[in-house]
Amino acid sequence: MVSRVIPVEPFDLVVFGGTGDLARRKILPGLYRRFLGGQMPPESRIIGAARSEMTEDEFRAMARAAIAEFVSADKRDAAMIDQFISLISYVAIDAKGDGGWATLKGMMRKGVVRAFYFSVAPALFGALAERLHDHNIADAKSRIVVEKPFGRDLDTARALNATLAKHFREEQIYRIDHYLGKETVQNLMAVRFANILFEPIWKAQYIDHVQITVAETVGVEGRGAYYDTSGAMRDMVQNHLMQLLCLIAMEPPYHFDPNAVRDEKLKVIRALDPVEHQDIVRGQYLAGGGQKSYVDHSENPASKTESYIAMKVHVSNWRWKGTPFYLRTGKRLRARTSEIAITFKEPPHSIFDDAEGWRENVLVIRLQPNEGMNLMVMIKEPGPGGMRLTQVPLDMSFAEALGEDGADIPDAYERLIMDVIRGNQTLFMRGDEVEAAWAWADPIIQAWERKGDKPRGYEPGTSGPEDALMLLHRDGRRWREIRE
Ligand code: NAD
Repeated sequence: MVSRVIPVEPFDLVVFGGTGDLARRKILPGLYRRFLGGQMPPESRIIGAARSEMTEDEFRAMARAAIAEFVSADKRDAAMIDQFISLISYVAIDAKGDGGWATLKGMMRKGVVRAFYFSVAPALFGALAERLHDHNIADAKSRIVVEKPFGRDLDTARALNATLAKHFREEQIYRIDHYLGKETVQNLMAVRFANILFEPIWKAQYIDHVQITVAETVGVEGRGAYYDTSGAMRDMVQNHLMQLLCLIAMEPPYHFDPNAVRDEKLKVIRALDPVEHQDIVRGQYLAGGGQKSYVDHSENPASKTESYIAMKVHVSNWRWKGTPFYLRTGKRLRARTSEIAITFKEPPHSIFDDAEGWRENVLVIRLQPNEGMNLMVMIKEPGPGGMRLTQVPLDMSFAEALGEDGADIPDAYERLIMDVIRGNQTLFMRGDEVEAAWAWADPIIQAWERKGDKPRGYEPGTSGPEDALMLLHRDGRRWREIRE
């Protein structure tokens, strides 16, 4: 089956922070792939805007190098790259001053969608919004794309929302959470709401528990000083894991419409119980495997910031009463993997004498690597040896089902940027959602700050602190193995 590519309207996309790491690794290569795929029209333009004084040619050379480094060889078509590069220009701009803004204004065209990607440090988000407005560069239809982190607590998130709201309507603000741009995350919604099979049993009565794991093998090297002011709770749980939890726990929206979906997600966040102290395990990786420890990477021997967190969360509503959601995320773990696993309950009665091979049904949604879904089901073990049970994966991965084109899954950033141009906010966080997530996270963080809790050390290359295992053992459950 050939996947349909519908070109978006021609656009002018200004990438503030165009020389930065995110622009080089994700935004520019992603745009090239959408251009190659026929989705970005050749009448579009990309304008890099950053602090460095450089010529257009120098910026283009940087974009070319980024494509060479971050786009796979089979997608690097020399003629298409040349054409794409010809759509790029550059302006040196100071987010906090007036330099470059008049030039940028002169570069904007009428009659195309204008989007402004804030790929700069969060401290500059407000200044950019203000200057876009003051210099009359943004029109009523313009969109701004705001990177993470969106605040570091409820107060700062509120202040940022208020600053952006002075110059842009909510419909113009696209708060990125790249987890929402992943193919499987959207497929989760399709599986839930386009089939009759799952929704009737999608509740505490049939679901034993849910595990959400985002494990990384890298540490905080290179950005230790920044990370030490944040930690796993702020950097991962409050946003990414929370968004995944929302998509699993939310009620069916009345329509696949941005506000209908986000209303339902918001209700989930508001239904979250406060998390008890004993239901949280925080960890810091130790030195090992020739690598430094967390405290060495962060250059803060007294650091109390967690590089790992595991927690048990309850959604207090009719659907989920009694079904725990276990969340965990950490750095320097055994494997780089992100997955959601939904474990169903036992059948009420077993008709088989030999139930030895019996295992629970689990729906596993893998976000990385190898995006896809598997439903673990029980079948008869093939062969003449009587009725023995065995568990097999029912592969629901679109990559195979959809053939070659289906395997060509766009990166989350490319998909999300195209959504910005289309004006579709479904996969972006609304201001009230972000605030509600902070309102839930703040007391949890404050509690351990008040107590002065120091995270437990854990060996790198493992699945985290021992105490995290206990969190599930106590409930008679086990974490799934962290592996690629
Ligand atoms: P970076 O430090 O690599 O790049 C920062 C960019 O901002 C540079 O282009 C720089 O020239 C520009 N800049 C700095 N001060 C400026 C000023 N006063 N005026 C105009 N431009 C200025 O940062 P990054 O890693 O690319 O991150 C950008 C944003 O994306 C941040 O908000 C970050 O939190 C977020 N983010 C990054 C990643 C990542 O993988 N790099 C992942 C998720 C989110």
